[in-house]
Amino acid sequence: MGIISQRVTSMAVSATLAMSKKSRDLKSQGIEVVDLSVGEPDFNTPDFIKLAGIKAIEDDFSHYPPVAGFPDLQQAVCTKLKRDNNLDYKSNQIIISNGAKHSLMNIFMAMIDPGEEVIIPSPYWVSYPEMVKFVDGVPVFIETTQEADFKISPEQLEKAITPKTKLLLFNSPSNPSGMVYSQDELNALATVLAKHPEIYIVSDEIYELIVFDTKFESFAQFPFLKDRMILVNGVSKGFAMTGWRIGYIAAPAEIAAAYNKVQGQMTSAASSIAQKAAVTALLKAPSESPDLHDMVTTFKRRRDILLEMLNDIYGFKTIKPTGAFYVFPEVSALFGKSFNGRTIESGDDMADFLLEQAHVALVGGNSFGNANHIRISYATNTDKLVAAAKQIKAAVERLK
Ligand code: PMP
Ligand code: GLU
Repeated sequence: MGIISQRVTSMAVSATLAMSKKSRDLKSQGIEVVDLSVGEPDFNTPDFIKLAGIKAIEDDFSHYPPVAGFPDLQQAVCTKLKRDNNLDYKSNQIIISNGAKHSLMNIFMAMIDPGEEVIIPSPYWVSYPEMVKFVDGVPVFIETTQEADFKISPEQLEKAITPKTKLLLFNSPSNPSGMVYSQDELNALATVLAKHPEIYIVSDEIYELIVFDTKFESFAQFPFLKDRMILVNGVSKGFAMTGWRIGYIAAPAEIAAAYNKVQGQMTSAASSIAQKAAVTALLKAPSESPDLHDMVTTFKRRRDILLEMLNDIYGFKTIKPTGAFYVFPEVSALFGKSFNGRTIESGDDMADFLLEQAHVALVGGNSFGNANHIRISYATNTDKLVAAAKQIKAAVERLK
């Protein structure tokens, strides 16, 4: 009998958070590292939201909130879903948790029995397969290619479905590819899902607000799917509130109730202060938020600068992402090349090489399901991005 459970022993460490720790460790040794590993806005939370947090402290919101979240936050989520997405939800369908990551884990605990399958388009966010495996579910991956903009086709979806399929876990805009599905593309996939009414769809919409020259679309817009949608969202990315840890789901009432039971035993509720700040964040329409507008414009400018510089690096192949704040270049043309006796054979090797030799932290593609790529987060300022791209180029030129 080992000290640590099999479940945890066999769980992979979060590659995004591991790389961000490596980079912090190097920084603490006095090495200047440009950190493009973790995906979080470098902006601070807008002042009007911070003030709501301060007021919540002053107003003594220091007691346990209801397990599902404060009613005014549940209502604010309903208001947001109607205002931004034209979706009708009632408060009993909304549950607030400690970030969208927590929401996802609660869903899997509430819905997955051992052996049930969860379809995950690949590349995927690192935590998805680990969460599914943790509850003894089986991740079933659909491989995509850069040529297909990392998007799955209806034929691929149909082929992945088996009698054991419980969920489709969908993420657009995508981490790590930055790709955004169009309404037509969703429509084609929805036609397949219409034939399989037993499958539920978990739609991770955490990057909803970060899109460039394109529109965010959700499967929830199709009335024949709405009753089997579990929407996952939060305030981390769109409102620069990663540290406040507020995420939420909108789901059929029966699923919300099961999820609530899990949350009642595991965490009680999300932070009362952060919930109050999230009410203020969500009640502001994105179209009326100069902070959001500035942030998205800034991300878009950074994307363009970074892409131009990456395209100038030998062996890097990119496509233009239209959402989130990641680029996912293919670097396999450099595999087989060496430096100091070490040969690069995967995206992870490339990430290690670039951390050591270019002092740039980014994440290898292996844990995202595609070892031919690396993920670069451009949620940092332009000076750092330009420096990073120059340092990467110089290091790559030293590979023989
Ligand atoms: N989903 C995706 C695709 C993400 O990139 C993140 C960022 N960590 C999350 C969910 C979770 O976000 P949070 O827990 O901060 O709400
Ligand atoms: N979503 C971010 C990322 O992918 C945050 C880190 C994490 O939770 O994985 O980098």
